[in-house]
Parts: sequence; structure tokens; C-alpha cells
Amino acid sequence: MEARTEISSLGEFGLIKKINEGFKTSLPETVCGIGDDAAVIDLDTNYGLLTTDMLLEGVHFDLTFFPLKHLGYKAIAVNISDIAAMNGIPKQVTVSLALSNRFSVEAVDELYAGIHAACRDYNVDLVGGDTSSSRSGLLISVSVFGQVKKDLITYRNTAKANDILCVTGDLGGAYLGLQLLEREKQVFLANPNMQPELEGNDYVIQRQLRPEARMDVVYELAEAGVLPTAMIDLSDGLASDLLHLCAQSQVGAIVYEERLPIDDHTFLAATELNISPITAALNGGEDYELLFTISQDAYELVKNNPKITVIGYVTDNKEEIVLHTKGDNRVPITAQGWS
Ligand code: ADP
Ligand code: MG
Repeated sequence: MEARTEISSLGEFGLIKKINEGFKTSLPETVCGIGDDAAVIDLDTNYGLLTTDMLLEGVHFDLTFFPLKHLGYKAIAVNISDIAAMNGIPKQVTVSLALSNRFSVEAVDELYAGIHAACRDYNVDLVGGDTSSSRSGLLISVSVFGQVKKDLITYRNTAKANDILCVTGDLGGAYLGLQLLEREKQVFLANPNMQPELEGNDYVIQRQLRPEARMDVVYELAEAGVLPTAMIDLSDGLASDLLHLCAQSQVGAIVYEERLPIDDHTFLAATELNISPITAALNGGEDYELLFTISQDAYELVKNNPKITVIGYVTDNKEEIVLHTKGDNRVPITAQGWS
């Protein structure tokens, strides 16, 4: 009998690693293949950046609470976030759809209204895609092409010991927004006459339904003359993405619990849901903020930017990626990302 290995035994990252091992890039223009937020292609004067992400109904979104317009916007924003993580400027996007007969032309119009709004906000052109029927549900696959000046690109594997660890915005909101939406869905399914209790939770729900790629910070860092030494976007949660950055850079990190940026609304939602806000900030995904490192000299240039928080620093001990707690303990940071 032929051997059969369950994909779950490898996990998402193990599977990608296995795929990667089977391929070596051979073209001189392929500067960086699998492994960073976007592939890097030599275009002579600039680097081209290419990234793709797909969203599946029932896996990545639930249309009972996800408006199609927001979904269209999010599909573009999460891909642009990967270009931002390379310090690049997004330029062109393609959008591929698989639709079941459950969807009407009006529904597709709604989806594209969101795609259109995102293309306008991020100043990118929709230049193609593919359309297919689907036997079950909706699938959206987006690819983005971007560019960056060669000396401005930021990889995941170039953080150095003693660099300062920074994060944009605030963390944990998108995860708690999802938990609230899921909870209200269950209440609604049990009793369709119940009104949703989402009042006061607009902020975290918006973090889930309408994430933004932090292109604003990419521009502000450039204006301030700061070039991060390494950067990744936070799609799987701070813990998981910090572990990627550290593993690829072969460094360790110390993160201070008291420095984690958590919005007041996120605290309130966490209390309501009986979830630790620190756990949400560390392991909740989909915030699409940027995690980056800067050299100590650059600290003065970022310290007054309210969008940026220093959360810790990089060490040369790659065995030690830890959270320094409020009680002065050091606990290992472990990934509980999606599988
Ligand atoms: P991100 O969260 O930044 O989108 P992922 O964790 O999805 O990144 O992917 C990590 C790396 O693995 C990226 O370089 C991505 O292009 C690559 N990758 C993911 N899935 C596949 C696949 N099926 N085949 C080849 N490369 C893949
Ligand atoms: Mg990414």
C-alpha cells in the first residue's frame, strides 16, 4: 500500500517548507523566492515585488456577517500589506473569483465596489484576473505587483542583535472583533428574533471587517529617513510572525508585555469575551500591522511618531524569544497561529 501522510502532520509552514525544498530558483532575475512576504524580482533599476493570497468562504470569511463590499476591500488590503512589509509601493493587482450560483450580479457588484475603493485608496490599478464557477461558495484570489528602490527593500532575515523592535498601530482588535461576530452569529442562529449586541464594539469589528495595509507608515518612515533593518506584516499574530522574523534573521528577541499596544476598545472587548487582551495581542491574527526592527541610531527618528510603538529589542541569542512580563518573569513566546 502506498504511504499517505496527513497534511496536518506538517502544518501550513511545514507544507510550504516541503514545497520550497523541491524547487531551486534558476533565473538571475529571481532575487528572492519563497520565504518572505513577497517574491523579489530584479527589474534593473528597481526591484519588482510579487505576492498572492487567497480568501475562501467558510475558511477565511463567513458571509453571514461579512459584507461583500468589506470583503472586496479586505482582499486587496491584505495583499498590499505584504508589499508594505517589503517597504514597497503597490502598483498593479489581479483579482480571480470562483462563484457559485448562490451569487447574483448585484452581489458581484458589491464585492467590486469594495475592490474599487481599495484600489483607489492604495493607488493601484486592477489589471486582470480570472473568473470561474464554483461548486460551493466564494473564492477570491488576489495578486499584487509592487516596486521598491533596490537600496530600500526590507527583508525578514536581516534583523541584527541590539536592533529595536517596533510595531505599528495596535494589536489584538481584529481577533476580538471576529470572536464577537461569531458569538452574535450563534445567538442569532439560536433565536433569529434576538438583536445583535455589538454596540460599543465598533472599533474591534471594524478591525476585523476593514483592515488597512500600513502604507501610511511606509511613507512616513521614508520621509523620516528611517530604513527598517527587517520587516514583516502581522497576518498570523505577533507571536507567530515575530518567530518567523527571528528564525530567518537568526536572532532572539525580548518583548515587554507592558509595551504591547492595545487599544482601550480592545481591552473592553477582551473583558466582555473573557479573553486575555495580552493573548489576543500576541496570538490573535489579522491585524495587518507592521513589525519591524531599526538600528538604535534611528530611535530618535521614530520616537515621536504616534503610529509606532517600541515593544522590545533584538538579541543575539536565537534560542530565546521571550515575553518580559509585568511581574518581571520571562516566558517563551510560542506560535499558536492558524493551521
Ligand atoms: P504571508 O502570510 O506573508 O502571505 P505565507 O505564510 O502565506 O506568507 O507564505 C510564506 C511564503 O511561502 C511566501 O513566500 C509564499 O509566497 C510562500 N508560499 C505559500 N504557499 C505556497 C505554495 N503553495 N507554493 C509556493 N510557495 C508558497
Ligand atoms: Mg506577510
